[in-house]
Amino acid sequence: MTPSYPDRRTFAIISHPDAGKTTLTEKLLLFGGAIHLAGEVKARGANRRARSDWMKIEQQRGISVTSSVMTFEREGITFNLLDTPGHEDFSEDTYRTLTAVDSAVMVIDAAKGIEPQTRKLFEVCRLRSVPIITFINKVDREGRDPFELMDEVADMLALDVTPMSWPAGMGGQFEGVYDLKAHTLMQPTGDSRAFEGKVTQLSGLDDPKLADVLSADALKRLHDETELAVGGYDAFDPVAYRNGDQTPVYFGSALKEFGVGELIDALAKYAPPPRTQPAEPLPIGPEHEGVTGFIFKVQANMDPNHRDRIAFMRLCSGRFKRGMKLTPSGSGKPIAVHSPILFFAQNRELADEAFPGDIIGIPNHGTLRVGDTLTEGEAIRFTGLPNFAPEILRRVALIDFTKTKQLRKALDDMAEEGVTQVFYPEIGSNWIIGVVGQLQLEVLLSRLDAEYKVAAKLEPSPWDTARWISGDEAAMKAFAAINQSSLAKDRDGNLVYMAKSAWDVGYVQERNPDITFSATRER
Ligand code: GDP
Repeated sequence: MTPSYPDRRTFAIISHPDAGKTTLTEKLLLFGGAIHLAGEVKARGANRRARSDWMKIEQQRGISVTSSVMTFEREGITFNLLDTPGHEDFSEDTYRTLTAVDSAVMVIDAAKGIEPQTRKLFEVCRLRSVPIITFINKVDREGRDPFELMDEVADMLALDVTPMSWPAGMGGQFEGVYDLKAHTLMQPTGDSRAFEGKVTQLSGLDDPKLADVLSADALKRLHDETELAVGGYDAFDPVAYRNGDQTPVYFGSALKEFGVGELIDALAKYAPPPRTQPAEPLPIGPEHEGVTGFIFKVQANMDPNHRDRIAFMRLCSGRFKRGMKLTPSGSGKPIAVHSPILFFAQNRELADEAFPGDIIGIPNHGTLRVGDTLTEGEAIRFTGLPNFAPEILRRVALIDFTKTKQLRKALDDMAEEGVTQVFYPEIGSNWIIGVVGQLQLEVLLSRLDAEYKVAAKLEPSPWDTARWISGDEAAMKAFAAINQSSLAKDRDGNLVYMAKSAWDVGYVQERNPDITFSATRER
């Protein structure tokens, strides 16, 4: 069978830290045959991190600041898993990664339910109606009542839920997971109490064979609960799922490998292949003939010895071939993509061709920017890759004043990667940087020092927030005349109004109805 885009499933896992995303990722790769020993994801990550100085923060905190891409195959389907940083202080990187996926898996800790980060990431998915499969993890441990968990997802996220499997007990009473569609019971065996292949095929929940494999208590409970669950929730509706209105819910244990196979099967069977992407002048579907894609992430200095950058492109249409010439919307100058990289779990392989839904790493020296559209020359621009108004602003102060040029280069580079935003005030030379999370400030200082040899410190900024502004020429001119001391330009030369508070923004906005103040800026 020749590969093509209907076989692609490009997805991300969204979760709160500690819910089990890393463990589930490992198991997905393991089931997909991409790695042979669980534990390799973290080990490999540690090796990779050790090579890169600036990632010391990641090591110290034991968290992942950067996203990566992992590809695995199973039964003719190619899965592209885009990793999103799970820490509270995540950056715009996280948001943008979610613009490059067609669906998401939401992992919830059965003992904790919906946590703040799950919710935040979910809201980003909702903006784009990204379909979500829910995986309630850690059923091998004491958890909350399954109905309570289902209802919490429904209520807190305003999402219809439908059970696809059901746990036969949890924690000490855990006796397996029942697949409500296939009518199979997966059970723990051996000392590890992991899933090692013990499956009982049943004709349904009334099958008397269930009594042979479950204790009387577990059997009664499973009967009672599933009767309520199947009757009480809507049946699975593939259309509602794909519209982002309904989430199928799977119970499992990533650690003990329950529900992992079912999750992969669900992604293969129900998750959408590459979706049509918002673009101008018209949305682009995967069937569009010409090659198109957009850059959702740029990572600089993956290897500190080389000033290389990898731009991550999500392919949206066409059949990409190595050596192909593509034109980025930013520079407008065609580039030949001679050494594209596909991110496999164990190593990076040179890609000869790629299909819509695939992610391609393109090494470059700064010509490719986040938000760039790449085409074979067509006048198309993908939209909807937002910049977010920074929530934290700081003034950058040099310790060594001879390093002004290096500092500007560093700030521009990092703005280009989307790690931080930089604002150059119209008056004065106090460059301001903006981030959406505290951790990015540490990343910034650490990278300034390690990669650019610039010693700098961050000082409080006179401003607290920023808005991109636009309006007709006369209105902008009049506004600028009065507010010049609060104006700055971003990396791309767009005008930004710097405000002392959100209240200040509202006040100024009210007095200047001709000016549009925007908390996001589409590239
Ligand atoms: P992440 O922060 O979401 O990536 O979470 P990890 O995958 O690192 O898991 C956090 C902790 O939960 C680790 O100690 C895991 O071993 C544990 N864990 C993950 N999945 C399960 C599970 O299904 N059952 C149990 N009992 N522990 C789990």
